[in-house]
Formats: sequence, C-alpha cells, structure tokens
Amino acid sequence: MKYNRILLKLSGESLAGEKRNGIDEIRLEEYARQIKEAVAMGVQIGIVIGGGNIFRGLSGSKKGFDRVKGDQMGMLATVINSLALSSALSAIGQKNRVFTSIRMEPVGELYSKWKAIESMQNGEVAIISGGTGNPFFTTDTASALRAIEIEADAMLKGTRVDGVYTADPEKDPSATRFDTISFDEVYNRGLQVMDLTATTMCKENGLPIVVFDMDRYGNLLKLLSGENVGTLVHV
Ligand code: UDP
Repeated sequence: MKYNRILLKLSGESLAGEKRNGIDEIRLEEYARQIKEAVAMGVQIGIVIGGGNIFRGLSGSKKGFDRVKGDQMGMLATVINSLALSSALSAIGQKNRVFTSIRMEPVGELYSKWKAIESMQNGEVAIISGGTGNPFFTTDTASALRAIEIEADAMLKGTRVDGVYTADPEKDPSATRFDTISFDEVYNRGLQVMDLTATTMCKENGLPIVVFDMDRYGNLLKLLSGENVGTLVHV
C-alpha cells in the first residue's frame, strides 16, 4: 500500500449524495465499505467529516445568526455526520471510535493524539469529529491539523471532483487535470484546493494532499494501491 496511515477528509455535502441536504444512507454505506476495504489492506485510517450538508457558520451569519454560535452549530453538524458514519461502519462489522474536539461524553471520547493513534493501531477507524473545536476554522483546516498530529503519511481529500484542474471543469471544458502539483503552484495559479489556512498548514508541515473522487466506488483502494487516481499536491 502506498500509505500506512492516512487522514481521510470527507465533505458534509458529499454525504448528502443526490439529496444535497441531510444524509444519504446509500452514499454513507458506500463510503463505509470503501473504508473497511482499506483497513483490511492494513491501512490505518483517521477520518474528519465536514458539516456543510447540515449547517455552515458563514452562511448562517449572512442570514443573521451569530457567527460564533453558527460555527458551533457547524461543528456539532460534523459530530452528527461522524455518528452516522460510525453507525454505518459498525453495521458492516468495521470497528471504529468517535472522538470529539470538545468534551461531550457519552457521544464520543475527548480527542487526544495518543488515543486516536492507539485506536488506529488496534484496527479501529478513528473518526475525529467537532472540527478544531474553534470558530472561524473549516473542517479542511481541522483535517490538516489532525493529519499532522496523528502523523499521517498523507491527507486524502475525498470530493465530487476527481482532482485539481487548471480551471473549473464545469465552467471551462478545456480545463485539464493535474496528476501532481506543488503547493507553490497552487498558490501562484490561485487554485481552490482548500482554504488558505488549511493549505498553508499542509505546506509548512510537509503533509501531501491527494484530492480525489471518493464517490466513484473503488477509488479509495485504487489510490492506496498506487494507481493514478486524483491529484497529488506536494511540497
Ligand atoms: N467549523 C468551525 N470550526 C472548525 C471546523 C468547522 O467553526 O474547526 C464550522 C464552520 O461553521 C463550518 C462548519 O463547521 O462551516 C462545517 O464545516 P465545513 O464547512 O468545513 O464542512 P464541509 O464543507 O466539509 O461540509
């Protein structure tokens, strides 16, 4: 396998599947199966899930919500999604544990790097929920932070697009996909891979990112097996 330990970032929106809102059980089960297959191949997996299918603080603040409360709602949304994934993994016999950035037992265990690593070493999937625990951050930044903390070999960002393109492929049909690209080129071309806080954390800590289409069943295992899937963003 290409990586021994990964941090998989799943966006909340993709969890909604065709529904666009809430949680799509079929999509959830497909994710769970792909994750179980990867664990069976010996890969240690930590997961961070977004909350955009339920609530985003920034969008909420435009409708009059207090920004900090809105962000806290967003972070709680990531806990809801994490519990859903935990349930789907358990249903197919994949051991897992939900950690939370802020204390909320018995919903999940308070996160610490050591507990998360121990959990992965025991064959469990460590689902790290609640974002960073702080407002004004995104789950991309939380993923970068947790990936670095748990000493992941790479952060795999599962999206609906199959990599990083020269331009938005939905708007510009001539856009082409990069197999690999450096962080500096991402900055210079102004490409939207992740928000700048997350990108900078990855760059400064030498953490590679792979952007790939997790919605195509089998892609996670292909990527881990070294096939040319998605775009590798490197230092
Ligand atoms: N959030 C936050 N701090 C964090 C992570 C997330 O305040 O460390 C809030 C923020 O309001 C964000 C929401 O949680 O909009 C959901 O996360 P995100 O938008 O990153 O989810 P995704 O786009 O991946 O579904």
